[in-house]
Amino acid sequence: MAQSPIVSERRRTALVLGGGLAGISAACALGDAGSQVTLLERRGFLGGRAFSFPDAESGWDVDNGQHVFLGCCSEYVGLLRRLGVLDQTSLQDHLSIPIIEGGRTGHLWSAPLPPPLHLAPAFMRYPHLGLMDKLRLAYGMHKVRWTNRAKNREALQQENFLSWLRRHRQTQRIIDAFWNLITLPTLNSPAEHVTADMGLMVFQEGLLRDRHSADIGYARVGLTALVEDAALAAIGEQGGEVRFQTPVLAIEMEGDAVAGIRTSEGLLQADAYVSALPFDTLLEMLPAQTSATCFFQGATALRWAPIVGVHVWLDRWVTDLEVVAFLDSEIQWLFNKSLIQGRPKDEGQYLCISLSGAWQYADVPNEELERRFVEELRRLFPAARDAQVTRVLVVKQRQATFIPDPASDAGRLPATTPVSNLFLAGDWTDTGWPATMESAVRSGNAAARAVDGWLENAKGASLAQALEG
Ligand SMILES: Cc1cc2nc3c(=O)[nH]c(=O)nc-3n(C[C@H](O)[C@H](O)[C@H](O)COP(=O)(O)OP(=O)(O)OC[C@H]3O[C@@H](n4cnc5c(N)ncnc54)[C@H](O)[C@@H]3O)c2cc1C
Repeated sequence: MAQSPIVSERRRTALVLGGGLAGISAACALGDAGSQVTLLERRGFLGGRAFSFPDAESGWDVDNGQHVFLGCCSEYVGLLRRLGVLDQTSLQDHLSIPIIEGGRTGHLWSAPLPPPLHLAPAFMRYPHLGLMDKLRLAYGMHKVRWTNRAKNREALQQENFLSWLRRHRQTQRIIDAFWNLITLPTLNSPAEHVTADMGLMVFQEGLLRDRHSADIGYARVGLTALVEDAALAAIGEQGGEVRFQTPVLAIEMEGDAVAGIRTSEGLLQADAYVSALPFDTLLEMLPAQTSATCFFQGATALRWAPIVGVHVWLDRWVTDLEVVAFLDSEIQWLFNKSLIQGRPKDEGQYLCISLSGAWQYADVPNEELERRFVEELRRLFPAARDAQVTRVLVVKQRQATFIPDPASDAGRLPATTPVSNLFLAGDWTDTGWPATMESAVRSGNAAARAVDGWLENAKGASLAQALEG
């Protein structure tokens, strides 16, 4: 079956493994292209690492961590549009982020000028850098803009971004007050842990491509609520289905092709298989001799980085800022969930502290984190000093994203594999993007295109065979 999937004009079938954004986008794209799709999800809900859960104590639908998308995230926005839920998100009309240090507020904002001039007014007025550092920053941005990543890929993969920045005259102060402010939340690791290639990618695509590429967007509802019903409807309308609580137990092989997916319901079969599983799960599901091949062994190069969220509910409104970054606080980024979700002020306020690259917090007891961060909120926001904290919730995601370090390049496998009917999706695959919702959606779309191409070829081949025969 695997070698010549289309021997008649019956509807082609695809099994998608994993119901994160990569699996959802692959399932939708395959369904749109005419395949009958079955999506297998281990848990009882869709969304994968971008999920929300009801918190009875606060009455809120709490995200597993604040998720932000940018104006440049075209395929993620495309998926939301396809699902008809884009109106449940908001996107800034231009980039604007307050950045606070020692009580002084600077703004990273985008002016109505062509790139890279759109950032010039913000840099000129940025209070957290002296004149010499601003000139160095302008030089660094110029170098970022004109570095040809495609041409220098190998070298940029081997060098870390910190070393690249230092080579281009960026001082520690500029790195702390500007570069890491963006590198840390977008790559979930500081400049010393990421490749120069990924660091440059973030600034080229996210900040410099055009004046709207860094506009910040958020869901105005919980992350699962945003996509789940709409994805179920979209997959269902194409005649597909989602099977919840259906973990893949093994990917079974026959020769160089997948023979089927072992689940508690038995062996499920299809013409094509798309794994949208995390890299480590994929390796566990493959037979040992397949995962030991050079191709799949690449994925062992990937390592996880954690994100910790501290969610705080107060009995009153303490800040009007929607999002803010701090340079002199353990609180890296703070999101005003009440404002983002349009809640009335008299409800009190829900703030989400997002800690990226959070190795130093992952093993700290939750009570300790609760105490430290509530204290820090009270220090930073005078109005919080008299406020009652009604709930604090720490959410630790140890396996949040892969680290785009120099070793990771080998782990970013392409959509097409040496296993003829197995295709890969997932934010960790070779999308050229860091581990983000955009990367996940791009990977799902790419895997669906690869499946389509393969099925078309196989159809042509079996037709030719039939004609010859
Ligand atoms: C706290 C946090 C904050 C983040 N912030 C941002 C952000 O601000 N912006 C951004 O763009 N990205 C952010 N990300 C990253 C983003 O969430 C991920 O890049 C994206 O969701 C990955 O999607 P995916 O489909 O590739 O993988 P996953 O979401 O991991 O999907 C894999 C799916 O496979 C399922 N699965 C696993 N094992 C099996 C099995 N055996 N059988 C069947 N199913 C299985 C899982 O349950 C899951 O649903 C954040 C991530 C975290 C954790």
